[in-house]
Amino acid sequence: MNEERQTVKCPVCSREMEVGSQVAKLYGAVRSAPRATSAYEGKDYYFDSKACKKEFDESPEQFIKK
Ligand SMILES: [Zn+2]
Repeated sequence: MNEERQTVKCPVCSREMEVGSQVAKLYGAVRSAPRATSAYEGKDYYFDSKACKKEFDESPEQFIKK
């Protein structure tokens, strides 16, 4: 079995998290797994906490670097 891992950064606080881990998906409570996601302009963003998602949702443009 191949387990693909991918690292993403929370756009609000720049904390790194791991996505794509089957273990993280199954157990959900694994340290450093994203706690919330948000889709904006066709792209998915991952957050380490619901507080960060809330900040992002209020003003996404502030956190997206173009
Ligand atoms: Zn964050």
